[in-house]
Amino acid sequence: MSHEDFPTENPAVVTCGLPYANGDLHIGHLRTYVGGDIYSRALKRLGQETAFVSGSDMHGTPVAVNAEKEGVTPESFALRHHEKYKETFPKFEIEFDNYGHTHDETNTELTQELVRTLEDEGYVYKKQIPVAYDPDADQWLPDRYVEGTCPYCGEHARGDECDEGCGRHLEPGEIEDPVSAITGNPAEYRDRNHRFFRVTELQEYLQEFIDRLEGTSNAQNQPREWIEGELQDWCITRDMDWGIDYPGETEDDLVLYVWVDAPIEYISSTKQYTERAGADTFDWEKAWKESGDIVHIIGRDIIQHHTVFWPAMLRATDHVEPRAVMASGFITLNGKGFSKSRNRAVWADEYLDEGFDPALIRYYLATNGGFQQDVDFSWEKFRNRVNNELVGTVGNFLYRSLLFAHREYEGTPDADLSAEVKERIHDAIEEFEAGVNDYSVREVGNSVVRLAQFGNEYIQGHEPWKLDDGAEKRQVIRDCVQIAKAIAVLFEPVAPGKAEKLWDDLNEDGDVHAVGVEAALDAPAATFDEPSEPFEKIDDERVEELNEKLQARVEEASAETESDESDAEESADVTDEHEPVLEDRIGFEEFQELDLRVAEIIDAEGIEGADKLAKLTVDIGVEERQIVAGIKQLHDLDELPGKKVIVVANLEKAELFGVESNGMVLAAGDQADLLTTYEDAEPGTRVQ
Ligand SMILES: [Zn+2]
Repeated sequence: MSHEDFPTENPAVVTCGLPYANGDLHIGHLRTYVGGDIYSRALKRLGQETAFVSGSDMHGTPVAVNAEKEGVTPESFALRHHEKYKETFPKFEIEFDNYGHTHDETNTELTQELVRTLEDEGYVYKKQIPVAYDPDADQWLPDRYVEGTCPYCGEHARGDECDEGCGRHLEPGEIEDPVSAITGNPAEYRDRNHRFFRVTELQEYLQEFIDRLEGTSNAQNQPREWIEGELQDWCITRDMDWGIDYPGETEDDLVLYVWVDAPIEYISSTKQYTERAGADTFDWEKAWKESGDIVHIIGRDIIQHHTVFWPAMLRATDHVEPRAVMASGFITLNGKGFSKSRNRAVWADEYLDEGFDPALIRYYLATNGGFQQDVDFSWEKFRNRVNNELVGTVGNFLYRSLLFAHREYEGTPDADLSAEVKERIHDAIEEFEAGVNDYSVREVGNSVVRLAQFGNEYIQGHEPWKLDDGAEKRQVIRDCVQIAKAIAVLFEPVAPGKAEKLWDDLNEDGDVHAVGVEAALDAPAATFDEPSEPFEKIDDERVEELNEKLQARVEEASAETESDESDAEESADVTDEHEPVLEDRIGFEEFQELDLRVAEIIDAEGIEGADKLAKLTVDIGVEERQIVAGIKQLHDLDELPGKKVIVVANLEKAELFGVESNGMVLAAGDQADLLTTYEDAEPGTRVQ
């Protein structure tokens, strides 16, 4: 790949996949927006001129279908959701430079202009195709109005997407055994004239494009088979009222397919930003028509649109192609898919109502796994990450070192930064930069946690509280204040509000959101007041409370939906029963790094104050180990001694409720079904 590293001289545009103006946001939805916000802030931190834009996707059949159910117009239905999203994102510190929507004037005009260009350049042709029609309702059935069987994989598919099977985009007329989603009647196919975009003419271009594309590997790998194999021309019109009118002459009233005008909103939103902020601040035409670095951040279910149709459209209308596509994995909740109809979700509003700081979920979503990996959310895992990393590592370092500095020196002691710490901060800046260039928001976040960890070891190793006042003590504290300042600078993309507070605590001038990475090494302010504790622990009762609320809601919803089984709106973000199998394969060598052993339980007892945890003593052949396992409620502890289990013997030690856990006992699912051996392998036997 031939792109120059960030920061470049070009204007960059970071976009987030448009949220569909069709429902409430849950924390699973936030992953791409949090990722986008962190990425754009990190780019700006490197000095890259950057616009961060998105908007609501107003068109398409799900909006029309749901508006019809509510008896309102699609426009008012979609606008209501749009306003809500626009209000919600800033509460999670997701701050777009511009947030528009696809039905506004800018996008309507720009979309029609681009389609006219496609026509002028000879990329559009007319073709008669079979379109599903409901004779009883006397209505055409575009996209989500029709269901049936996927011709490629045979799974049940809805409209324009095989979302339960192979994931392919489906063209009108392709779905087999069509059934009307409105009446449930069998649909017929009737011939209609539609407009097609000659994507196949751009096959060679797309093959080269995909080789140049940066971002996550799934975005580069997944489209190859479409581009190199079964690439098809693309029907860009629909028989509907709701949408942007096809700009040319047609014999029937046709609107543009939602996936034509949706990505164009990326350009429209950038244009609106320029119109508001001025071309001196950001020049949308330069970014999109001359030399922009365009980075799209999306969910992995819309890779095909962003790596095939969209770059083809950009190419055919003489725009800049995307430099990178970052496609995120899915999010599950306690190992299962989020489900709107079952109310199995942690809603965005609910998270805020519980009083949690946005920084916590931002940190969790950004660093819990690689961006393209699936990530599971549970309140337990959330608590662990917050308590161990944000409170235990970052918060602990900041609070104790700044409090000490304030008490002993009323701020920064008079000393020069040591070479060792200067170099360590320098390394953190490099790791941060590498994170940006590797399209890894996780690395951006982890670079800071590692620095804080270093800070803890540094202060612990030097024990300044034992030193008499003198050069050495001043040196250690001076170094710690610098590390704290570096954390404020480098943690700003992940935790903007917390960074602002820390900046303030450090009595720093200026705007922490506007400084570059180099500010991490600028001399800190000479005096500052007593610091505040940046993060608070989440206790176990709180987690139980949250789980109970979730459980109660799910039960209530399932009682309600049993009578109303067919909630057509259940958007299948993720299949409901089991987590999807991880996309990333690991090598045998990686697997070999896990030391799995057969063990025998010698003793099992509960841990006081913890409802679910048990302290196990196990014999792993070579030694006896103490392991804490979350199985107390699920097994009769007295029956466990003598049972064989499988243990991860080389897991890092952890402390739970003040009890050391040295390894992990393997168990399946929510019921903690313990893994055991089929015959009689002895304790200590390696599992391979
Ligand atoms: Zn399929």
